[in-house]
Amino acid sequence: MGDQNKYMLAIVRHEKAKREVEVLTRAIGLAVNRCPVEIELMGLSVATKDHWERLVDEKTGKTKTHLWQAFRFREPSDCGYGMMALSEDGVAESLSAGSEFECEHCLRAYELIVKRKSARRELGHARLAIRALGRSAMRGGENG
Ligand SMILES: [Zn+2]
Repeated sequence: MGDQNKYMLAIVRHEKAKREVEVLTRAIGLAVNRCPVEIELMGLSVATKDHWERLVDEKTGKTKTHLWQAFRFREPSDCGYGMMALSEDGVAESLSAGSEFECEHCLRAYELIVKRKSARRELGHARLAIRALGRSAMRGGENG
């Protein structure tokens, strides 16, 4: 009974983490879809090339949302050589009210992305815990 409970808890932990990642992924999509850049693109039936290029990154086909701009932004590195991307805090800051990529929807999406990072870490740990149980059960099988 104790053993069964152990397996059950590990599986439930994994399932919870998996669901959390899925829920966050959906929420991120919904938040990004509310970005005015995305809405402008959705509303276009016919676009001039210039207009299209203003909204869509030609190389990747991605919409140039504020989040996209913040991720892509490079600033001179502290050491004085080369350029570097914004830090986690820097991205959030650049999307905040009054900043250069201000957008409440992209900021919301980014907060969810940060949350999903930790949810994915938890999912990884849950997966490892299940594998450890599997290995230990196999050893038990060999011995017994
Ligand atoms: Zn936006």
